Amino acid sequence: MRIAVDLDLCQGHGVCESEAPDVFELGKGDTVTLLDLSPGEDRRAGVEAAVRFCPTTALTILEEE
Ligand code: SF4
Repeated sequence: MRIAVDLDLCQGHGVCESEAPDVFELGKGDTVTLLDLSPGEDRRAGVEAAVRFCPTTALTILEEE
């Protein structure tokens, strides 16, 4: 899978970092940084939780064939 983030929507709530800290990072900026654009399947549960709970729906999973 690949992850897309809409930085116009991201408000830096950090829910994603809480769910998958090895994939999402909130640095000093106001928006999230993706540490891993194509995380492995072992990260799927955390990434899906981040997508589900992001309060601004800024995150999308793009499935790869
Ligand atoms: S949970 Fe959503 S709004 Fe919050 S930092 Fe992550 S992508 Fe941005």
